[in-house]
Amino acid sequence: MLTFSRDGWLKLETLWVHRLVTMKHRWCNIKALPGANRLIKHLKSNGVPMALASNSPRESIDAKISFHDGWKDSFSVIIGGDEVRTGKPSPDIFFEAARRLKIEPSSCLVIEDSLPGVTAGKAAEMEVVAVPSLPKQSHLFTAADEVINSLLDLQLEKWGLPPFADWVERTLPVDPWYIGGPVIKGFGRGSKVLGIPTANLSTKDYSDLLAEHPAGVYFGWAGLSGRGIFKMVMSIGWNPYFNNKEKTIEPWLLHEFTEDFYGEELKLVIVGYIRPEVNFPTLESLIAKIHEDRRVAESALELPMYSSHKDDSYLRSS
Ligand code: ADP
Ligand code: MG
Repeated sequence: MLTFSRDGWLKLETLWVHRLVTMKHRWCNIKALPGANRLIKHLKSNGVPMALASNSPRESIDAKISFHDGWKDSFSVIIGGDEVRTGKPSPDIFFEAARRLKIEPSSCLVIEDSLPGVTAGKAAEMEVVAVPSLPKQSHLFTAADEVINSLLDLQLEKWGLPPFADWVERTLPVDPWYIGGPVIKGFGRGSKVLGIPTANLSTKDYSDLLAEHPAGVYFGWAGLSGRGIFKMVMSIGWNPYFNNKEKTIEPWLLHEFTEDFYGEELKLVIVGYIRPEVNFPTLESLIAKIHEDRRVAESALELPMYSSHKDDSYLRSS
């Protein structure tokens, strides 16, 4: 978990891709969670003191963060489970972090990915934002002051902290990432139920990549071999309205095609984020929201920061 104070600072453990955290002695393989670097840099440059408080032994925290440039120096306090009497869910580790930061516990904001951590933060009378590390677990985190889907959705101004300044026209630039393969048959719902066709890719070869990226709505460019390069808006996730079992990727190419293109090679570069995945009370409201996402993506992709990726050679490769 990660904790700040609203005067203020933070602690964390929410910053690593969780599935890799158990791979002892292979810390160098642990990628930062999307949004973690952005958060640390932002708070540091705004002079917000941060603490890192984890039930892990201090030695393994040090080993883990040593692979992330600038992280160690960003935290005024780093504290391991072996430095306090009782680990989370006891509030000890948070009290100790606040004491070392010389900040009142009540002025601290905790960012937590685990239930024991949320319990500990609330027991320390801190404000707690939960970013559950396991999908479909948000309903268990009712004790938190807010539950968010990923660090990308953190709104610091809600907690009296300096807001992020990197949103552009309702979009958040992300480090571009790439995915591609032959277009496969999906659930057959896109066009039929929603009037919105989504060219599905096999997730079999991409389970790591999909696990890495938070569920939500993204956009970028799509290269379809022999046909061209098109604007694209897509969702990643379980589509709560349909409650899918598997996390899928559903790209909608913003172009009118006269025919299906199953089996053809599709390449995507994802350049920005729009919103988290949410459920909708009606199909109509879901469809309206997807069209709004399309408009946001369509106009954002005209901005030089996004339009430049249209020339990415990956989109033309086969
Ligand atoms: P499925 O569940 O098989 O993916 P969809 O109803 O989502 O079925 O339709 C997706 C298919 O429609 C794609 O695989 C593609 O062949 C075709 N298609 C036509 N126009 C588009 C478009 N603009 N974006 C994505 N797919 C499209
Ligand atoms: Mg589809």
